[in-house]
Amino acid sequence: MGTKKMITGLLILVFAVAQPAPAWAGAAKIVLDAGHGGSDPGAVGVNGLYEKTVNFDVVNRVKAILEGRGYEVALTRDSDIYLSLAQRVAITNSLAPDLFVSVHANAHTNPSINGSLVLYYDKDYPQADYPPSDAMAALTPESKRLAQLVQDAMVKSAGTVDRGLVPSAVYVARMGSVPSILVETAFLSNAGDAANLADADFRQKLAAGIAVGIEAYKPLEKPGAFADVSLSHWANEAILKLKNKGILEGEAGKYYPERALTRAEFVTMLERQFSLPEPAAAGGTTPGNATVTGSTYGGGSGGSQGTSAAAVKFKDLPASHWAYAVMQKAASTGILSGYEDGTIRPDKPLTRGEAAALIDRVIWPGSSQKATATVFKDVPLSLWSAASINRLKDKGIVEGATATTFAPERSMTRAEMAALLSRLIR
Ligand SMILES: [Zn+2]
Repeated sequence: MGTKKMITGLLILVFAVAQPAPAWAGAAKIVLDAGHGGSDPGAVGVNGLYEKTVNFDVVNRVKAILEGRGYEVALTRDSDIYLSLAQRVAITNSLAPDLFVSVHANAHTNPSINGSLVLYYDKDYPQADYPPSDAMAALTPESKRLAQLVQDAMVKSAGTVDRGLVPSAVYVARMGSVPSILVETAFLSNAGDAANLADADFRQKLAAGIAVGIEAYKPLEKPGAFADVSLSHWANEAILKLKNKGILEGEAGKYYPERALTRAEFVTMLERQFSLPEPAAAGGTTPGNATVTGSTYGGGSGGSQGTSAAAVKFKDLPASHWAYAVMQKAASTGILSGYEDGTIRPDKPLTRGEAAALIDRVIWPGSSQKATATVFKDVPLSLWSAASINRLKDKGIVEGATATTFAPERSMTRAEMAALLSRLIR
């Protein structure tokens, strides 16, 4: 299957320092607008809290939540600066998002009034002096639906009084080009609401509710590969592809992409991708693949086992282990060796050096395991995996962690492994 050629280049992706990939082109794009800012504090709470500060905090919390779920989020302001209403709308129009949400906190002359409400432009309640853009008049049903979803979720999440939707000619809800709402989270003029707004936990609940409403209005068209691998994760495409091919699996809907890859997981993926060589007939005394015995794995110096399929036993690899069969197969054929203490450590993290050696053995079985030159300053000739690392480097397959180092002891993550293997599947 042209494996050597196919694998060339792919390890560069994994062994180079991972760079965040650009956001998924199809991600839903949201513009969030923190009301007021700079010289304009907005309402000032009975407790002295500035509306602009609260708005900014809530908006950033919504942003973090949505980005974590794979949304693309832009802010009209990402610092404490003054922006006119026209500037906010112009920024939004230039970004052409799927929707616009402006976040405010309310104030009323009656200090007993409290609760949450959402403003939207409604063509059924026009104000003659404040005509809407054509787009916003036409978008009335969409803005209203967004407003209701956000209001319902926010009230439910934060436990605020539900003051409902308010048709309004407010500028940012009237002059845009996409479904637009203005959220009034709570009343700074009310002692109870103002105290709540000063509390980060409350602001997080507001943000969570707003995010839920936005998600309900604009669900992601394509989910990430797993619940914990969002569309914007740099390895999402690779993980999704391998998931669909049955090469990798998650646990209860999660993939744990940043978790260190274990030795058993790595061998399992190699088996699924390459089909590891079958062990020699298990006759009990038949030697196995003699060309690779002795290349002990993981820094040990033994290598006495692995000469016979029947002789391969590891005290930490019971038959009940989920990867027992594939680990035994890999050990029988010398792809993977155990340690001097009789273990094979299936659940321990795999290092970059180990990964290089394993792939070397699968792709170029029987190659010399003696290094002849120092290529990376942290890969001395005496390092057990030096020959493999150097060979892959010579063939242009791996790069260092830096120009002069390889970081052979650093763990490989599950996301890095997925990115590597995905390149093998066209
Ligand atoms: Zn305001």
